[in-house]
Amino acid sequence: MNISKSKELFAKAQNFIPGGVNSPVRAFRAVGGEPLFIKKADGAYLYDEDGNQFIELINSWGPMLLGHNHPKVKDAVVKAMEDGTSFGAPTAREVEIAELIVSMVPSIEKVRMVNSGTEATMSAIRVARGFTGRDKFIKMEGHYHGHGDSFLIAAGSGAMTMGDPDSPGVTKGTAKDTLIAPYNNLEAIEELVAANSGEIAALILEPVPGNMGLCLPKEGYLQGLRDICTREGILLIFDEVMTGFRLAKGGAQEVFGVTPDMTTLGKIIGGGMPVGAYGGKREIMEFVSPAGPVYQAGTLSGNPIAMAAGLTMLNHLNTDPNVYAELSHIGTKLTEGIKSINQELGLNYTVNRIGSMYSLFFTDKPVFDFETAKNSDTALFGKYFQAMLKRGVYLAPSQFESMFLSTALKDDVIDQVLVAHKEAMVEILGL
Ligand SMILES: *Cc1c(COP(=O)(O)O)cnc(C)c1O
Repeated sequence: MNISKSKELFAKAQNFIPGGVNSPVRAFRAVGGEPLFIKKADGAYLYDEDGNQFIELINSWGPMLLGHNHPKVKDAVVKAMEDGTSFGAPTAREVEIAELIVSMVPSIEKVRMVNSGTEATMSAIRVARGFTGRDKFIKMEGHYHGHGDSFLIAAGSGAMTMGDPDSPGVTKGTAKDTLIAPYNNLEAIEELVAANSGEIAALILEPVPGNMGLCLPKEGYLQGLRDICTREGILLIFDEVMTGFRLAKGGAQEVFGVTPDMTTLGKIIGGGMPVGAYGGKREIMEFVSPAGPVYQAGTLSGNPIAMAAGLTMLNHLNTDPNVYAELSHIGTKLTEGIKSINQELGLNYTVNRIGSMYSLFFTDKPVFDFETAKNSDTALFGKYFQAMLKRGVYLAPSQFESMFLSTALKDDVIDQVLVAHKEAMVEILGL
């Protein structure tokens, strides 16, 4: 595979951009080799600067649920551009998307738009602290909530991949208010709550974590968290930046039937534009400025182009009766195919899947939290990644990520991925 243009661009980029990239995982450090510079994307495919074509299994880390360049979303963006790109004043589209989000996501009665998932989680924690008058919050080991200071403790994929979970620049003062618990373990939460009685504002988690590789909640776990939070006056926050609009219209909270007090959203909500949102119960969201005392603002929040893309995306998901069944079919076909090939080759690697998200872990032990995710052979994953890339399949460049499938992945394309998977396994394991 000729990647000379990407190599050239990466060499130049490193002179002007830290590490040559604008977000760390893109640099491929966890898998070796050099990142590809992408020129364009369409449907199920990415194309790099050298003209190589790749089947897309990350889809911009989630947003491109309908594949790249979806005609409806593209048309909406182009049309919105005709009327100007930013006003810094309210627009009809913001009212429309807010009403739509409230109708789709069970826990959300009011919603505030921001520009990224990071902003959404930072703001949600601030509001939870303001609302409860408490300082501390609980987060789960290996869960990622963006790069806000108070979340960069045991923070999953990016940080985990760099072998540096606690970032310099986050003060001890900030870190002391973040309490860490293992995922899928209710006793640990009971202990933390007992030791910090009346001091915890919120418990935030990815209900279905994808940032330490995909893990699933154990039976009754999310409801157990709900019960503890209700009993203790702690706000339960589901970070559905990844799972929102992906697992169902109403995200993981709809799938598992557990309603949090607040929800954070991102990725799909912008249809490929930089958008995030946080919302929740009316009385909590009434604390947000200018309705209430907790300050949060944004020059480009609710940007008309971004709202046009997001609104079109969400309207499509809200009205297409087949989209989630289709995504589930795609996820099932791919992971069942992987499992049956592995079995044929005498391999017993763990595959976790829900809907259109999955992770293949290079361990034969079950993976359900941060500790068990670490059993994976990351060096072997790196080889697998390169072997797949060589065969034209673009995976997330880290063992500790989920793949994000799109509706553009038709059966014949999945069959090609499976052929590549078999060849890659044979190659890297010398079978
Ligand atoms: C991606 C992600 C974020 C951060 O969103 P950005 O838009 O990258 O700031 C937060 N939480 C979860 C669960 C995510 O997957």
